[in-house]
Amino acid sequence: MPHEVDMTRALILSLRDWHAGQSKSHPIRRVLLLVGQFTGVEPDLLRSAFARQKLDTAFLREAELVIRESPFVAHCRGCNQDYQPDIGLRYACPTCGAAMDEIRSGRELKIERVEWADDDVTG
Ligand SMILES: [Zn+2]
Repeated sequence: MPHEVDMTRALILSLRDWHAGQSKSHPIRRVLLLVGQFTGVEPDLLRSAFARQKLDTAFLREAELVIRESPFVAHCRGCNQDYQPDIGLRYACPTCGAAMDEIRSGRELKIERVEWADDDVTG
């Protein structure tokens, strides 16, 4: 069982909590999610898990999940430069060979924005 299924469950639970705390009860039309390449999350698996699980809810039933991927970028302090490691293959700095010691982006996993079905954008 891919962990995207559990992750989607957690995502839907936090959206439900958020939705319950709002003053209006319209359904949600779109959820924008930021997913870093270094989280190991497969956007396609996340999308298909969401498409199935949203049917069990009323407020998300018509919602679309839009995923924005953030690239995996590391920073070498020795060379003072950013570089993109090859996930699973090479994490060291391509210039000096130093081990990766700083990650600039790629670990994000968060809801960027939620849009209501009535065109009112929030978040
Ligand atoms: Zn370097």
